[in-house]
Order: sequence, then C-alpha cells, then structure tokens
Amino acid sequence: MTRIFQDKKWVIASHNPGKIREFEAMLNLPGLALQGAGALGLPEPDETGASFAANARLKSLAASGKANLPALADDSGLCVEALNGAPGIHSARWAGPNKDFNAAMEKIRARLAEKNLVTSPAAFVAALCLSTPNGALIEVEGRVEGALVFPPRGARGFGYDPIFVPRGEKRTFGEMPPEEKEKISHRAQAIGELKRILGLRGSGTRGLK
Ligand code: IMP
Repeated sequence: MTRIFQDKKWVIASHNPGKIREFEAMLNLPGLALQGAGALGLPEPDETGASFAANARLKSLAASGKANLPALADDSGLCVEALNGAPGIHSARWAGPNKDFNAAMEKIRARLAEKNLVTSPAAFVAALCLSTPNGALIEVEGRVEGALVFPPRGARGFGYDPIFVPRGEKRTFGEMPPEEKEKISHRAQAIGELKRILGLRGSGTRGLK
C-alpha cells in the first residue's frame, strides 16, 4: 500500500481545476504532487457506469493506464429516497449543459410534488477509486444522510447544497460555512477512509479556498 504513496505523484482523474484544488486541500499531504488529467492531455472517458463506484473506477483506470501513475477519481451525487435514488449518478446531468442547479432543484421539488410529497430523506454519496498502473485498486465510499427542504436556502457551497439539510442540523449545506460542511461531507468521509486504508497520517483536511 505504501508503494502507491511513494510514487509522490498522482493523477487526479478530472478535468476540473476546482476539483484538483479540492483534493489537494482534503488530502493535505504536502509531499504528494497532484496533476490533473487535463494538464496531462488525457481524454475524458464517458461515464457509462451504473453506480458511483463504477464511474469512479472507469475514470481512475483510464487515467492510471494512460499516465503510468497512480490515479485518483471520484464520482458523486445526491440520492433522493422518495425518487428511488434519483438523480444519483445523473446529478450533474439534471442541471443540463448550462449547469443550472436551480432548475435541477426545481425538478426534484416537482417530482416530489407529483407524489404529494414536500420533502424526502436524501443522501450525498461520493465514491473514490485510487488505482495504479500495475493493477492495485482501492475503492471507498462516503455518505452523508439528511433531508430535503424547499425552497432552497443559502448561497454557499454548490450544486444541490441549498436543499440539503444534514441529519442533526437545521441549516442546509448552502447555509453552512465551508469548513463545517467539509468536516461531515461525503467527500471528506471518503477521503478520510482512503487515507486510513493507505495508513497515511492526519485525517484532517486543510480548509478549502
Ligand atoms: P461529478 O461527481 O463531478 O460527476 O458530479 C457530481 C454532481 O453531484 C455535481 O455536479 C453536483 O451536482 C452534485 N454534487 C456532488 N457533491 C455535491 C455537494 O457536496 N454539494 C452539492 N452538490 C453535489
């Protein structure tokens, strides 16, 4: 396991610079250089998997194979219990090409209204996959349970944050300071678990910028 880390350089299998910064902050491993798949000129594979884990795996394997380096990939989304887990792996797609999350949140509200519901239990889920060119594979999943509220509240965070109230809280993720969300988020839990499996110290995360 430590061999993976001894490479000192991992690919983050994402073309999103924000996600690379987020991983840097959350992994908080100063000796490790992270490079985005985009910067290495790697293609973006189609997310054809049927689960978060399957999509994280196919992104990670595509990047580690092509870059000949360990590659970390994630896939995440919001699963609404009353909608049989939708939007789930299609969370980004529900916002359309313009990434209109107000429309995506409204779609959830409307689908619940069709069932005469005004809320539902829901969970944010994040799957991570770290793979190496020689075939080692570590897969973890983080999950934060909560419930939905309408209308959306709070201008912080991103995506579906304004309609998600984590269990035991009154505020939505959109109303919480980022450092509070990062302590309990699905991504933080998945990264904590990955670091635990790798035997890396310091499960704490550095504040995101
Ligand atoms: P991907 O993992 O980059 O494919 O996209 C996941 C999608 O799920 C994002 O576009 C967001 O819509 C949603 N999502 C994932 N994590 C969060 C979160 O922490 N807050 C709000 N929305 C999220």
